[in-house]
Amino acid sequence: MKAVVYNGPRDVSVKEVPDAKIERPTDVLVRITSTNICGSDLHMYEGRTDFEKGRIFGHENLGEVVEIGSAVDRIKVGDMVCLPFNIGCGFCRNCEAGLTAFCLTTNPTPGVDGAAYGFADMGPYQGGQAEYLRVPYGDFNCLRLPDDARDPQKQLDYVMVADIFPTGWHATELAGVKAGDWVVVYGAGPVGLMAAYSATLKDASKVMIVDRHPDRLKLAEQIGVIPIDDSKVNPVEEVLKFTNGKGADKGCECVGYQAHDPQGHEHPNMTMNNLVKSVRFTGGIGVVGVYIPQDPGSPDQMYKQGKISFDMGLFWFKGQHIATGQANVKAYNRHLRDLIHAGKAHPSWIVSHNLSLDEAPEGYQHFDTRDNGWTKVVLHPTH
Ligand code: NAD
Ligand code: ZN
Repeated sequence: MKAVVYNGPRDVSVKEVPDAKIERPTDVLVRITSTNICGSDLHMYEGRTDFEKGRIFGHENLGEVVEIGSAVDRIKVGDMVCLPFNIGCGFCRNCEAGLTAFCLTTNPTPGVDGAAYGFADMGPYQGGQAEYLRVPYGDFNCLRLPDDARDPQKQLDYVMVADIFPTGWHATELAGVKAGDWVVVYGAGPVGLMAAYSATLKDASKVMIVDRHPDRLKLAEQIGVIPIDDSKVNPVEEVLKFTNGKGADKGCECVGYQAHDPQGHEHPNMTMNNLVKSVRFTGGIGVVGVYIPQDPGSPDQMYKQGKISFDMGLFWFKGQHIATGQANVKAYNRHLRDLIHAGKAHPSWIVSHNLSLDEAPEGYQHFDTRDNGWTKVVLHPTH
């Protein structure tokens, strides 16, 4: 089968690889029809992790079930399914509690809880930027979709349920966003746009978003979010201006350790410090942007931004709270799927490019450099 394979920093290609296949009785095999490039893929693409050469990318996957293992009895051949990016077992203590991002069973690496498709350090699983994907514990890890998932436009909505829609939603849950809140989101990439969208769907009364890419800010403005361009204004002062000098009720961090200042210099501390200043006394902060842990055993270029500093004094003085982590996609995915089916959510408004699998290297290159208009790329390995 064909797949998007990592060759080294900023080098991916589409190659023939051995077919994905059923390996255990609980596996399901899916023919992939839509699979997204994610900001998280860029951690590996840019060579900041120990992602092995030859591995297949892709953790935002949707397709049709073509084969099931002998122990699978809920999912059937022919089902259209979306695959939450976390691979859970469904029976460990964390999965039972809804914390599937921290499954105790599926990652064989000692000391690491949680697994994902095509991801550094998240288990040995291949990704779905390929014609076929093996889904472990298929009865648990497949979200069955209604028939309208065969409609190509609707499919673009459903594929966002694999990761960035629930991740944006998770940011608002971690921050504690409620109806009527004033919310600020740092980062207007796909994840930040989905956090702002989620806050809007939760009836937040004012949502602001900070970035410096005019095309991304414009997209946010189209759904009624207030754009703040931090290359032109001080974002903290601007948020205070929009909130009677008090700060937002809730804040979402959707950038991660690859934060830059508006001049393009690396500045991993920047968004957390801005958030503590932009959020009001007693407010909540949800962090979904990735901060990969520092690993002293790794070469310098790896994991170099695991440790950041922010003003703990101010954070404490303001009595704020913070919550972090990978999204537990299963906890939200039925709800978000059903909002889409009912016509109440259309997360595909962020999709800028639909490409064939062969065009993936071009998609990576443009998304990586955040070229104007390249907001979210969906690949279509099969139809
Ligand atoms: P992205 O890189 O396209 O978006 C990040 C945006 O942040 C860019 O538009 C960039 O201009 C902006 N930015 C950079 N520095 C900034 C600053 N100082 N202030 C404000 N904005 C700034 O990526 P994405 O796909 O939107 O993902 C964002 C983050 O979310 C990544 O770290 C990704 O790995 C992470 N993520 C987390 C989860 C999870 O489960 N927690 C899931 C998916 C993605
Ligand atoms: Zn993702």
